[in-house]
Amino acid sequence: MAARRAKRGTTVEIPRRRPRWDILHERMDGLVASFGIEHISPDPLEVVRRYSDPRDIEVVGFLAAALAFGSARGAVRSVEDLLRRVTGAAAAAADDPRGADAQTPAAAVIAWDAARDIGRLRGWQHRWLGTRDAAAVLHILGRILRDHGSLEAFFTAGDGGAAGAPPTAPASAAAPRDIAPAISSFCDRALVLSPVLGRRDAANPARVAYWFAGPAKGGASKRLCLWLRWMCRRDQLDPGPWTSVDPARLVVPLDVHVARISRYTGLLRRRASDWRSAVEVTENLRRLDATDPVRYDYALCRLGVLGTCPRKRERRRCAACPLFDVCLL
Ligand code: SF4
Repeated sequence: MAARRAKRGTTVEIPRRRPRWDILHERMDGLVASFGIEHISPDPLEVVRRYSDPRDIEVVGFLAAALAFGSARGAVRSVEDLLRRVTGAAAAAADDPRGADAQTPAAAVIAWDAARDIGRLRGWQHRWLGTRDAAAVLHILGRILRDHGSLEAFFTAGDGGAAGAPPTAPASAAAPRDIAPAISSFCDRALVLSPVLGRRDAANPARVAYWFAGPAKGGASKRLCLWLRWMCRRDQLDPGPWTSVDPARLVVPLDVHVARISRYTGLLRRRASDWRSAVEVTENLRRLDATDPVRYDYALCRLGVLGTCPRKRERRRCAACPLFDVCLL
């Protein structure tokens, strides 16, 4: 075991042994089978799954994924609170006449006017993000929906799709087209739509940019990759309303739990948890499932987030782990 000191003084355990490729596929599929929908709570995806209209799903999904940092329970509370305020459901709860007109999330965002409606967000906060940041982001999403009809159409326009440049060829037949430029384009074009508000209501540009953190600066872009997983995959878990992005192109949303278990299984050999590491994990997962590598993300994350996996090998707790004989700890 190599214990290396990473930035900020945290120790990153990177086993020296090589992955057990001969049985890893089978064990990883066993892990996926052991974490079904019944293990979802707490997760912001719970909020997304309450909606059935594709436009609502992509709007709520964007907000829920953007707030998926800090505690999962806190993220669920924050996105629920934000949606209540934006749709008018909060007013309904307070017996306000406007509550009778509570809107769907997509309709509310389309109608959103940051200067007029910012008061509805007063007091909303998630960690260091607050009222003015959320008001600006809702304005951006509203502009996109009004001008392009959907977040999917806006994303696809920067993906070499129908509304963009000709698709770039994949590096090889086995490697799907890189999704990083599309994510970066989405972020860059969205941020241009930030509202110009008076000094009292103006958002901090860096905080608005935090909602659109793409891979251009090297970060893992975990929250946007999570949103794309929810939008582009469809199974018992992910709603997958989008049809224009092949799930084979997705990159794993690399959070601290996925990175840790990936290192234990040899899917990740780097100590940084950045975009290059997210790509490394994804490329290794493609060896297990080339058409849908990100399908392993939920189970890897649950194993860590639910506290099932200790940070060191423990005979009693590890004996029931589907990864027991591929874990390199
Ligand atoms: S065997 Fe134990 S340490 Fe390894 S992944 Fe499973 S629970 Fe975690």
